This record gives sequence, C-alpha cells and structure tokens, in this order.
Amino acid sequence: MTDHPAMLKGVAVSRGIAEGAAYVLDDAVPLAVPRRTIDDGAVASELARFAAALDEAEACLREVRDDLERQIGSEEARVFEADMLLLRDPTFSRRVTEHCAARKINVEAAVADVVEELALGFAALDDVYFRERAADVRDVGRRVLERLLTHRCEHPRHLPDGVILVAVELLPSATARVNLQAVRGIVTERGGRTSHTSILTRSLGIPGVVAVAEAVRRIKSGDTLIVDGMAGSVHVNPSPRVRDDYARSQAEFLAYRNSLAEIVALPAETADGAAVELSANVGKIADAEAAMLFEADGVGLYRTEFGFLVRDRFPSATEQHRMYEAVVDRLRSRPAVIRLLDVGSDKPLSYFPMAEEPNPALGRRGTRLLLRHPDLLRAQLEAILRLSATHAVSVLLPMIGAVEEVVEVKAVMADVAAGLRRAKVPCNSGLPVGAMIETPAAAVLARELAQEVDFLSVGTNDLVQYLLSADRTSETMTAYYEPLHPAVLRTLHAVVEAGRAAGKKTSVCGEMAGNPAYAELLLGLGVRSFSVTPGEILEIKKVIRAASLARARQLAARVLTLRTVEEIKACCRGSGVAFAAEL
Ligand code: PEP
Ligand code: MG
Repeated sequence: MTDHPAMLKGVAVSRGIAEGAAYVLDDAVPLAVPRRTIDDGAVASELARFAAALDEAEACLREVRDDLERQIGSEEARVFEADMLLLRDPTFSRRVTEHCAARKINVEAAVADVVEELALGFAALDDVYFRERAADVRDVGRRVLERLLTHRCEHPRHLPDGVILVAVELLPSATARVNLQAVRGIVTERGGRTSHTSILTRSLGIPGVVAVAEAVRRIKSGDTLIVDGMAGSVHVNPSPRVRDDYARSQAEFLAYRNSLAEIVALPAETADGAAVELSANVGKIADAEAAMLFEADGVGLYRTEFGFLVRDRFPSATEQHRMYEAVVDRLRSRPAVIRLLDVGSDKPLSYFPMAEEPNPALGRRGTRLLLRHPDLLRAQLEAILRLSATHAVSVLLPMIGAVEEVVEVKAVMADVAAGLRRAKVPCNSGLPVGAMIETPAAAVLARELAQEVDFLSVGTNDLVQYLLSADRTSETMTAYYEPLHPAVLRTLHAVVEAGRAAGKKTSVCGEMAGNPAYAELLLGLGVRSFSVTPGEILEIKKVIRAASLARARQLAARVLTLRTVEEIKACCRGSGVAFAAEL
C-alpha cells in the first residue's frame, strides 16, 4: 500500500465525487507462477488439481455468463460460451497433461507454459481473427491459473461493492465482463474525454478521471481513493482533512443531483419558450431503461456495436432484429435512431477480419467498411427494416465521407426492402435515413447530404478529432482536442444552418451535447435537438430551462467572431453561462 498521501492528476470525464477502496484491474500484469520439480508419484495428484481447476473455472464462467444475461437481458453473454469451449479444448488438456508428466513439473508451471505456447502459435498467424484468439487463450489460461494459485475466482465480476476501479484502459469488450454496478468511480491511464471509458463512466453516472499517468503502478488494490470528477484529480490515501473537505463537497453535489429529480416530468424548453428535443444515447437494454427513467424524448443514437462486441461471431438478421427489438421495446413507443455498425479504428471487433492499417483512424471504418461487406450491411438493414413495421425507428449512417456513400446504402436498403415485400414480410418502405456528420468532408457537404437524407446527426466526438487532427482516445492530445476551438464552433454552426435551410432536423449526439457547460452555446448556434447519455439528461434539461434563447443567440454571435479558444472561453465565462467555471 502507498501509505503516504498523494494526489495524481488526470482529465476529468464524468462529474461527481467518490471515495472508496481501489481495485486495480491487473489483467495485464502476469501472475507469479511458482515452478518446482515433482516426483513421479505426484503427477497424478497434480493432474487431479488441474481437473478440479478446470471444473471450477468453468463454473465461474457459467456464473459470469448467467449474470451478464440477467444484466443485459439477451444472448450477449454468448462470448463466454466461446471461452468455455476453449477451456475444454482437448488439445489444451492433453498438452498440459503431457507437459506435467514429461517434465515432472508442478501443474501451474505446465499450464503457464502450454498457454504461452498456444498463444504464441495463434499470435504468429497472418489472419487477424486467429491473432485475436491469442488474447482469448491467455484469458482462459489466466482463469485456470487463478484457480490453481489462489482458489478464488478472480474475475472482476467479484468486485466488492463500492470499489474504485483502476485500470490501464477499459475497452468495451472488457467492461462487458465486469459487474459495473459495484463500481463507485473509475480511474484509467489511457483515454481522452470522448474515449469509450469516458462515455461508459458518464453513462453509469459515476465520477471518472482518465489519463492518469502510471495509475496502475502508483495505486495498489486496497488504497483509499477519492476521485474528483470535476477537477480531474485522484487522491491516494488522503489525509483526514482532505477526506473531510471532500465529504462536504460530496454532500453538496448529491444535494444538487437530487434537486434534478424535480424536473424529470417538465419539458425541455428555454425560459423564453423555445422547445428543445432531448433524447438519449444508448447501447443496450439497461441504457434504454435509464433513458425512460429520465423521460428522454426518445433515442437519438443507438450505438449497435455493443451487441456485436459481446458476441463471438456476426449475429444473423433474425438475431439482430431480436436484439434491437429488445432495446426499442423499452422506449414506450418513443422513436429510436438506430445507427449502422460503426466498427474500425477505435472500435475494433475481434471476429471482423480487418486488414492491418498503418493509421486506423484514417482507415476503412463505419459505412465505408459496411459497403465493402454487403452481406453484413444487408443483414443489419433487414433487421432494422423488419423492426420498422412495428416500431418508430430510423436508420443512421456512421462516418459518412461523401454523398455517393449515402446513395449506395439507400440503394442497398431499397433492394432489401423489395426482397422483404416479395417475401410478404412487413416493413416501413419509407424508413427515414440520416447521415452522421462527423468528418470534415461531411460537414462541408452538409447541404448536399441534407438533400439526400431525412435528418442529420452531428457526431462531435469524431468531428472534433478529424477537424483538429487530435486523436480522441489519446491522453497526450487532450490539450488539442478542444470542442470550443473556433473551427469546431463555426463548422457546427454551418452544419446546423445547412440542415435548417433544407428543412431537415439536425441533432447533436456527440459528447459535446451532454456537457452542461456547452449547452447554452449550442442553443445559440441553432441546435434544437440534443442526444446525450441518459445520466446527463436532467443536467442538460436544467441548463436549457434556465437559459434564454435570445441571450444564447447573442453569445453565439459574439463567439463566432472570435479567433482563439481562450477568447471563446473568456467570452462564455464573461456572459455567465452555466458551469462556465468548468470550461
Ligand atoms: C461521435 O463521433 O460523436 C459519435 C456520436 O459516435 P461515436 O462516439 O460512437 O464514434
Ligand atoms: Mg463517431
């Protein structure tokens, strides 16, 4: 344990304050495996321990799968079945048995050697799919070793209640395996404001700080931590004075959060009567339920990647239909915008064989990738079209870079719809189609794109990264990744104007829409439709209800004349916008 108090700095990504014991996810740290020689007579008992460890690891996996099934309510838990198959792979057992008997070594050492051999074998293969299996083999091997070494199931689903999770990085595939309800706060070494850890942390409504250098080395499991999700600091084993001080701030913050409950049923409209649509960003059933808890107007962005990430192969059109229906069913007939699969770059999919690219963020991703895999595109469109017969859904195309990409997808969609009609399968042939505006090219062509689609949705997370050439996932680029950059604000304004001129709804669904410090400025720039993480709905509504549209317009008009981020921040602070202190 680090016994003296320390304060680590990072980037604040989710508001709030939490105190708790650290739980360091050390999946990346190799287990210390003892190695000793054994006599002939001990081989049988070692192998019996191995057999028992396999049974226990399997039982543990089954529990995790059942738990996940309960949490997210469908077949997403299937990924664990693949792990179970690996665990029971006869080659694995045979090699461990042979290794232990031939070398006369303890079974932990035999397991560690065989796992490494198998993993290296996979890692050396050309095919990305098989290379990814190397990580799975190590993961499964680790489970068996944990049973042998500690007799405990070390899977993080057994996180004790109220811990602060500390990790190098939390990728969506890893978080799908953790009992996140137990977590009170999150600290990671990697990531920026719009990386997946950050989005996840906000959707859980717990404080988070990312880009904390060497967090995993400097924090030990069991250390007392205070996570300050406003200031971006993490206090390790703080002094009683610091703890008292934070206890007071936490009480004030909770009182403020509770006060938000009063506005759940009230409309999102400005003090001078302008109506604003306030929808939710969701990825799974639990998010849809949270969205309804906060009375979202609907779902402005359903990221479908989650349902794909937690599987070990592509779901069929029928499985996808079921998956989307389960989410949309929770929305009490409110509309949902379902985004086509956006994989590639920062959203890899282990079973999607993608060519290695030197620069993945500028590589094939989103709609361009789907157009190269027409079967996948058609299956997803079929699922959404079938759902459109019974639910108010529309389809959103990610990472659009050119008008012809929209035209191509629409042609495929028309063909899939015609096939469904021929097969007498009902669907809405007028299913609305929208384009994400998240590349500079799409922003420049917003007027032309608006002619081609029914609505636009601005993905500021990617738009900011591409406009400013600043990686959204990189902790070293945080200072350059600035939503208040004049180039970003002018682009946003131009896109909203293009949508308005074409008479098409333009919403903002990137993380910028959920930051209360930007809400008035966005209103002033003409944004009337926000789609945010469910946990941010009430905070944004509160700012909207307190804002005056006339004043917001004046602020935006002034800001659009400014040349630097500092001038823009000073202007916002000077005009007293809500949460200006956090800019
Ligand atoms: C965005 O880029 O702003 C967006 C909403 O999409 P994602 O964060 O899923 O890339
Ligand atoms: Mg995006």
